[in-house]
Amino acid sequence: MSYMAYKLEYKTYVLQHKHVFRISRAARTTTPVVLIRLKFNGVYGYGEASMPPLYGESHDTAIRFLQKVNLDDFNDPFDIDFIMQYIDKIDKGNTSIKAAIDMALNDIAAKLKNIPVYSYLKLPKVDTVITSKTIGIDNPEVIKKRVKAANEFKILKIKLGSNDDKLIINTVRKITDKPLYIDANQGWKNKNIALEMIKWLADKNVYLIEQPMPVDFLSELAWLKQRSPLPIIGDEGVQRLKDLENAEQFYHGINIKLVKSTGLTEGLKMLKLAKDKGLKTMIGCMAETSCSISAAFHLASQCDYVDLDGNLGIINNPYSGIKTKGGLLLNNEINGIGLINPEKEWQLINTY
Ligand code: MG
Repeated sequence: MSYMAYKLEYKTYVLQHKHVFRISRAARTTTPVVLIRLKFNGVYGYGEASMPPLYGESHDTAIRFLQKVNLDDFNDPFDIDFIMQYIDKIDKGNTSIKAAIDMALNDIAAKLKNIPVYSYLKLPKVDTVITSKTIGIDNPEVIKKRVKAANEFKILKIKLGSNDDKLIINTVRKITDKPLYIDANQGWKNKNIALEMIKWLADKNVYLIEQPMPVDFLSELAWLKQRSPLPIIGDEGVQRLKDLENAEQFYHGINIKLVKSTGLTEGLKMLKLAKDKGLKTMIGCMAETSCSISAAFHLASQCDYVDLDGNLGIINNPYSGIKTKGGLLLNNEINGIGLINPEKEWQLINTY
């Protein structure tokens, strides 16, 4: 039955950032990704694994994983759950490259039905979704420049967890009073100082605090959650569905990222379970091409907070897909995940 089997191709690629991107633990100017293409019954599906070095995946680990993938026995393109159970069991970890496969499977399934992925997932149609724009840790002159350049965005996400957090916020507030998301990326190590900081931020039009303390500071996170005047969102601390089991002890909400959740299939399960538990929901991203951003868009309408700007900070995005204008992601109603001309763009991608 080989004519109905999946065929898998991949290309290694390196995203070049417009600017040095700095968070509380690291700074970088490039992000390695693996781009994949699956073919089933003449239909192509596209996926991407974005792998910031911090999280342990790389071109090498992704290629090694893909070499173990054998989809020959799968012939129902609509039973993605079943295929992803197999993919997940191949090896532990590897969540980004698993997500790439899940994206491509969803792209194919929706294209076979001639509908966009949100519709395939039985989610309602929306025309636009507001996204925040992330500003990395930097000196006041650079922060000013970045805030001004992000003028069209209605919400900014500010990275903190530096030695100059109040200076950064004061610098932002000299230029704009628009709402802010704060992401400390585990940077605050003392619960009292963290609480004092959150209280200071609470009357500065801040909507939420992402991952204020390290993920293994569980008693401190539980203490902080009880007292925080702002919702605390778990990001590094909530990776997959199983992490939701007791997430409400430490967080008011969770940041779902396809690279953590192994894609749309488990990401949607996380979204639904989080809502059932009364948790706030956010969808986020890494530095990514328009492939991952377009895929994530299909869950965005269901989330309280959307942070899908990872394609805007890179200069060599090989794909065109869901576009951002005036701080809004614009639904393009294209079948599948929403890439506009992927067959041609795939041919132009030079592996490196
Ligand atoms: Mg985060």
